Amino acid sequence: MRALAQSGVARETYWGITSVEYAVFYFLAFVTIAVLAYGVYRRFARYAQGDDDSFARLNDLPDRIVSSAKIVLSNEKQFNRDLYGGLMHSFILWGFLTLLIATTILMIDEYAAKKILHMTFWEGDFYLAYSFIVDAMGLLFVVGIGMAMYRRYWVRNHRLWDRHTSVEDDVFIWTLFALGVGGFLLEGLRIYSAGIPDYEIVSFVGYGMALGFDAIGLSTLGPEQAGLNGAGLNVENLHWLAWWTHSLIAFFFIAWIPYAKPFHMLSSFANVVTRDEKAGQRLPNVPSDLDATNAESIDDFTWKEILDQDACTKCGRCSSVCPAKASDRPLDPRNVILDLKSYREDLDAGGEEQPIIADGGTSVINAETMESCMACMACMDACPVEIEHLKSFTRLNRQMTDQGDVAPSMQDVFQNVMQNGNTFGDSPRNRGDWTDELEFDVTDAREEEVDYLWYVGDFPSYDERNKQVARSLATILKEADVSFGILFDDEKFDGNDIRRVGEELLYVELAGHHVETWEDCEFDKIVCTDPHSYNTFKNEYPELNFDEFSDDPMMPFEYDEQWNEDGEIEVYHWTQAVEELVDDGKLDLNGTELDYTVTYHDPCHLGRYNDEYEAPRELIEATGCTLDEMPRNRANSFCCGGGGGGLWMDFEEEPKPSEERIREALEDTDAGSGIEKFVVACPMCMTMYEDGRKTGGYEEEIEIVDVAELIVEAIGKEDEAKVEVAAD
Ligand code: SF4
Ligand code: SF4
Repeated sequence: MRALAQSGVARETYWGITSVEYAVFYFLAFVTIAVLAYGVYRRFARYAQGDDDSFARLNDLPDRIVSSAKIVLSNEKQFNRDLYGGLMHSFILWGFLTLLIATTILMIDEYAAKKILHMTFWEGDFYLAYSFIVDAMGLLFVVGIGMAMYRRYWVRNHRLWDRHTSVEDDVFIWTLFALGVGGFLLEGLRIYSAGIPDYEIVSFVGYGMALGFDAIGLSTLGPEQAGLNGAGLNVENLHWLAWWTHSLIAFFFIAWIPYAKPFHMLSSFANVVTRDEKAGQRLPNVPSDLDATNAESIDDFTWKEILDQDACTKCGRCSSVCPAKASDRPLDPRNVILDLKSYREDLDAGGEEQPIIADGGTSVINAETMESCMACMACMDACPVEIEHLKSFTRLNRQMTDQGDVAPSMQDVFQNVMQNGNTFGDSPRNRGDWTDELEFDVTDAREEEVDYLWYVGDFPSYDERNKQVARSLATILKEADVSFGILFDDEKFDGNDIRRVGEELLYVELAGHHVETWEDCEFDKIVCTDPHSYNTFKNEYPELNFDEFSDDPMMPFEYDEQWNEDGEIEVYHWTQAVEELVDDGKLDLNGTELDYTVTYHDPCHLGRYNDEYEAPRELIEATGCTLDEMPRNRANSFCCGGGGGGLWMDFEEEPKPSEERIREALEDTDAGSGIEKFVVACPMCMTMYEDGRKTGGYEEEIEIVDVAELIVEAIGKEDEAKVEVAAD
């Protein structure tokens, strides 16, 4: 192109601006920066008032910044389940950053190169390339804003409209629109006034606008000739007007950043940098004096929890994947985060103090709202700015439990665990009764050394349906010739779910009992039937400060060390352990034994919590079954409704999460009603789906089976395991 071969081309940066205006411009720029800096300072000063956070947030800072930049620049979370949203946000972000970099380059040329070095690099080919890139990315920016406006105002996407939607959302988007379109208008007027030189075609949007002004015959006369004492419509006046309007809007926007929604441009990045990679998998510990671990007042929240609130962009992705919201439980995770933020800001502005959480609608958050949470982590997985909902929610739950505001059915569970060590309230002596029907004895791991110390769990020990799963797994391990044993009446509830409901001290008591018992046993690895146990043994028991509690007369353990601090003891979910056995050829499977068409439900505590998606799938396929995936699979799995104490509480739900999920299996998979079995890998899921199958009227249409039951059938040992296999 001829234009690109030119070397002396450039343009005047302050065309038509007098020296007085120049001074006013810089005065306003100074005021803008001062207002911005003060606002940012106030925000960070507020974080400094927050309580200390229990997890390291600023270690390996360079690595954290680099990995966060990748997350933010790639927009990977925005693309998740939402191509339109991903493209829209990418266009806006990349366009905005390019314009920011372009302005910075211009400032360097203006103030460093010209004023100090008395040269300019912003000319010739550099200028042409710069102009082309700025126009291309600026156009992308405007397209992105247009897409956002279309989605917000035309489609009225349900995610964007809720009780925290406010005028700041409109001002934010319209200001960006005005900046993008105004910049092109200004460029078009400048190119037109310069006689539309050929080389300016690199600024193709502005060039096109200049041709438009030419086509409508916009006057190029000087102010005097244009009449009205220089105020008439001509390119020079219009350019002056556009220049000042654009500058004032830009000043307003920059100064406004820390005071409203645009602050997410800074706070979101800071939030991603300070994220906890194991957030949700592990909850913060409480000190033995329980100081400031609950939510008695807003001052109990840590600086990170406050930053979480400020980082929220109101995008509603968390709410759109929340199974509690989908089933009409009174919970919207975005609103909880934003309610806490609004309350804090009101309080900081002199508002009245309220209880943070209570029954009866007089508090910031209603107890029923928190009871509704299934601790499934879908909200955290969907959040593009790494807000750790479950951390704040646990604080609220702990407060609720302390106040005695939890549901009576949950209080019964606490009582059962306290008195009997299990959630059923059954005698600890009966814990091993499920083994009675087996044709072999199960080793007592307290008496003999074993390879696998198998933590069976409450449901496989006491619930009739899940006992079948326990017997299947025992038969599989026996067939694979593995040495395994269980703790019989020394096994208690793992504590994972009561911890998530806020019962921290009982949790510590259970954990102390288990680690002390394990210390007296000899084994290679711990294998869990239940993903909930697997999660807490693997991620939380090693972080507990047992020494803080070991002297407490209320705590029935003396263990005062950090258990498994170096990860020497491996903790497995049983599907991982058995997958190894299958790979090693320890089970007689050739992959053609069964020919069912099945679908598989990823349990939250195995999949989203611990990233294990493949082991259960490989086992299902090893039996010969055809696995047909539901649309919401792996990290996008939809909770059964049983987590976070949901299994023990009653809700007004429409539809129940378990019913909705079975519907998905029968209607939204490729095989549709051809799905014969709905496969689970979690005892709680088994209980929830057996219930959903009945209440949803699906009893004739589909069976619920555990992966272990498929394997035991595939190896032909279902009779030994006393597993009922449906007749074809
Ligand atoms: S953890 Fe699950 S149920 Fe709870 S708020 Fe998040 S998405 Fe909703
Ligand atoms: S918490 Fe995260 S996902 Fe939810 S609205 Fe805020 S930014 Fe979006």
